[in-house]
Amino acid sequence: MDSHNLAELLKRSLGEVRLRLIQLVLDEATQRNLPLYIVGGAVRDLALERPVNDFDLTAEGDAIVLARALSKKHGGGVTAHTKFGTAKWFLPQDLKADHDTLDLISARSETYQYPAALPTVASGTIAEDLRRRDFSINAMALRLDGTHFGELRDDFHGMDDLQKGIVRVLHPRSFLDDPTRMYRAVRYEGRYAFKIAEETLALIPEARPFVEKLSAQRIRHELDLILDEPNAVSMLKRLDELDLLSCIHPALADFDRSNLAHLQSDDPALQTRNSRWALWLMHLSDQDIELINERLHFTAELLKILRSVALFETNLPTLRGLKPSEAVIILESYSIKALEVISAALPEGEIKNTLNQYLSEWWHVKPKTTGHDLKKRGIPPGPKYNEILRRLRAAWLDGEVKTEEEEKELLNNLLR
Ligand code: ATP
Repeated sequence: MDSHNLAELLKRSLGEVRLRLIQLVLDEATQRNLPLYIVGGAVRDLALERPVNDFDLTAEGDAIVLARALSKKHGGGVTAHTKFGTAKWFLPQDLKADHDTLDLISARSETYQYPAALPTVASGTIAEDLRRRDFSINAMALRLDGTHFGELRDDFHGMDDLQKGIVRVLHPRSFLDDPTRMYRAVRYEGRYAFKIAEETLALIPEARPFVEKLSAQRIRHELDLILDEPNAVSMLKRLDELDLLSCIHPALADFDRSNLAHLQSDDPALQTRNSRWALWLMHLSDQDIELINERLHFTAELLKILRSVALFETNLPTLRGLKPSEAVIILESYSIKALEVISAALPEGEIKNTLNQYLSEWWHVKPKTTGHDLKKRGIPPGPKYNEILRRLRAAWLDGEVKTEEEEKELLNNLLR
């Protein structure tokens, strides 16, 4: 695609307010002779004619000074990270549209002291900023200031690779520097139906052992991003094919009994990240979940769901042939999110029906009588309250009472 077309596409993809905002930044940068670019994923998606949701602006120079000048002239506030040369402009009311902030980044170089290390960052040229990136398709910059508007910087032939549908690293040490890039490569390959270049694939075996050196947070983040993709199932299978799951934990690669196919369902209950993790791992034992958690450090909320789901399989048979009130006693100990996932993955049958009834009706059933009513009737507060209220709830659940009158009658009997 012609690069001027890219810049025009960018303008057209922006709403009126966002466009006015970008114009203000461009004017300021032009006045200061500061080259200003959009870089990376936004350029890639423009060239693919995909929607560009958000982007940063990269200045070849000091982005913090630029952000401060803008906020002084037009209002709003700035927070800055001097170590990284980045600034966030909290926009004044009239420049906010669907975003409250704009990120302004200084071009920088990154170097790695040893495999899988965090990079050493220094300010740099736009050429250096492109060189630090993961793939050629993510290493293009579109210049926006002054007369340079629409110039494309494509040092690594990213546009060619986009056209050919190839994911290619920029140099042979790329995966050693940052092994998360192997997971990113699979994500872009799967998302755009591209192919990872042969020479890039050939670099995986040497870098794979260094996955172990990545922090829990870094590796989990990549898996989170993969699970967020509509195409997650084929990406996970591709990761497995490249032995990139078993090197995190062997149980992650055990697909035989897994419920991965449900990741393709459009059931809204299965669209959250936590549900998708639970579907992936629900066939594993609680010991496996604990071991994987030692490596990935799940959030407390996700861990609770995963533990719940892992235990459920053992308890499945105990749910057969129960009265609703008996089933509720068992199901109450599980998180609702876990039950939604389990229900979606279960085949049609008695247990799935029980779960669905619990989720749609039973869970919400409460007696009309409250602790306050019991107090008014002169019963001294204590464990007895809970016992009576549970008994009334069970009566509603099992159809023993159907009206408020009948509940009152049962309560009178219980109190007698
Ligand atoms: P996505 O659509 O997946 O969000 P994106 O390109 O916007 O794609 P980000 O993770 O937001 O992805 O990263 C922005 C840019 O930063 C990328 O396009 C890439 O150029 C660079 N980048 C991100 N992660 C890495 C990495 N691990 N190594 C090198 N460059 C990276």
